[in-house]
Amino acid sequence: MGIVSVRDKQFKVSITAEEIKSRIKEVAAQINADMDGKRPLFLAILNGSFIFAADLYREITVPSEITFVKMASYDGVDTTGVVSDLIGLTQSIEGRHVIIVEDIVDTGITMKHMVEMLKEQNPASVKICSLLTKPEKLQVPLTLDYVAFEIPNLFVVGYGLDYDHEGRNLKDICSVME
Ligand code: IMP
Repeated sequence: MGIVSVRDKQFKVSITAEEIKSRIKEVAAQINADMDGKRPLFLAILNGSFIFAADLYREITVPSEITFVKMASYDGVDTTGVVSDLIGLTQSIEGRHVIIVEDIVDTGITMKHMVEMLKEQNPASVKICSLLTKPEKLQVPLTLDYVAFEIPNLFVVGYGLDYDHEGRNLKDICSVME
């Protein structure tokens, strides 16, 4: 019970669909309180955040907008060896209160880069809302404003997160069995 296979690995349920649902209500309540009157713009990062964003956004009650963007990574010349670009942001974010919606902040390198890119466009504020974070793996200074769950340093799938492109449709968040 509670064991699922994705490709060549086995995973066990670590956060159930019910736990996710109730925690998302709490996170959304916090955002609704903080963003009252600010008309935030939610920027959901594809692919991983599509299920989280859909559930979170239905709990948002303040006037707001949501749009979906993607980070494209390619080998480059910065210190990490990877350079990323933001695709799909066609509207201006100048003066807007932006909330980035992400599935997981792992090393934080992708997110830090994203925040820096967005700040160049002079938004009123940039906040980060992540479903998951692995505090042990964070490598860069980053303030995570809204986090649903802090998890141990184990690979997880489900609820939008994939293992080699599979497993996004699992309703629970499941961690790899070693
Ligand atoms: P980082 O924070 O720059 O290291 O990268 C974060 C990205 O790595 C996330 O957006 C995910 O796409 C991916 N990722 C990190 N940890 C996991 C995991 O446990 N399961 C699935 N994807 C993960």
